[in-house]
Amino acid sequence: MSLPIVADIQQPGAAAPARPEVRSLSREELGALVARLGEKPYRAGQLYKWLHQKYALSFEEMSDLPKAFRAKLQAEVVLEPLVLDKDQRSTDGTIKFRWRTTDGKLIESVYMPDEERGRRTLCISTQVGCAMGCGFCATGTMGLARNLTPGEIAGQVHQVNRFLIEEGLVPGPRPLTNLVYMGMGEPLHNFENVKASLEILLSEEGPNFSHRHVTVSTAGIVPNILRLGAETEVKLAISLNATTDECRDKVMPVNRRWKIADLMEACRKFPMRQGRRITFEYVLFDGINDTDADLERLVQLVRQVPAKVNLIQYNKNEGLPYEPSPPERVQHFIDGLMRRGVQAMARKNRGRDILAACGQLAAEGGPGRKPAKGILTGQLAPRGA
Ligand code: SF4
Repeated sequence: MSLPIVADIQQPGAAAPARPEVRSLSREELGALVARLGEKPYRAGQLYKWLHQKYALSFEEMSDLPKAFRAKLQAEVVLEPLVLDKDQRSTDGTIKFRWRTTDGKLIESVYMPDEERGRRTLCISTQVGCAMGCGFCATGTMGLARNLTPGEIAGQVHQVNRFLIEEGLVPGPRPLTNLVYMGMGEPLHNFENVKASLEILLSEEGPNFSHRHVTVSTAGIVPNILRLGAETEVKLAISLNATTDECRDKVMPVNRRWKIADLMEACRKFPMRQGRRITFEYVLFDGINDTDADLERLVQLVRQVPAKVNLIQYNKNEGLPYEPSPPERVQHFIDGLMRRGVQAMARKNRGRDILAACGQLAAEGGPGRKPAKGILTGQLAPRGA
């Protein structure tokens, strides 16, 4: 199956279904639905919990809702969860999940347990493909097919929670402790749906994640960095990967629209709650962004805000022209940053043996497709920007 390449990235949403997708409705919208169906208000709370705390996959499972109410729901809204297409287990405990959406698209999420630190993190996707076209990234070669809905974004979390409980891997009711929006897609290019998914995932009546344990990553869509800071309380990660505009224009074409100076200004304006830091992700490419001059510039950039730097050794993607820096170069960057007082660490490459590591998610079979053209010609206009 091949994905369509959507050049006009201003209209990437899925066609609206005839009946609304119930998992994408907000708590208020569920309340209005329940009232319209003539049911008592507390039924909305019950329904919300079935969807977002008990991870129900069908109305039949909702055993304490009257049959007549369930029949009315069936007629008014759809509940069509993601279907597990494949799960791949790495020797390091990482599990890569491939999901099939109702319209047949494939997306991926990656589960990364860290029992030493008591963390079980899920990396989730926000779009089918990605329009950003980063030259090193397998997803970036696919182009953008469409945005995921709030229900599809939150649904990855619900279904992995359910999977971990059912497989007996982790006791319930909420096995996952941390979320990172770093899978397929650029989260801030699907801002409204990402924000709606956060409302579900942080809800006390839902999975009840703490905003301290949820990180949204961006390649650098500056207007929506400011919106994320103003409208949510989650943490921010910046995928930086270069220290000059000349280099970043090539590695991450989004930089042709918003330069490094614009990005750093947005970071300075981002609210730093409770001693938080912005995470800067820096993937090291041999001979491209790993010189001593890069190290000096990186220090100067990240010192502008409370920051920590994750150094990532590149995972080679066949067909893409980037090579990983040697491990000693990664260590040289860590030492250099730490000596200058910058918190830095090498991010563990999880699931490398199952292509689940950073920049390797491409559910349609890997590199070979071209990115959407919009961002290269100044058309980038994120929804809600
Ligand atoms: Fe998109 Fe992220 Fe890949 Fe860049 S690195 S193409 S933003 S998925």
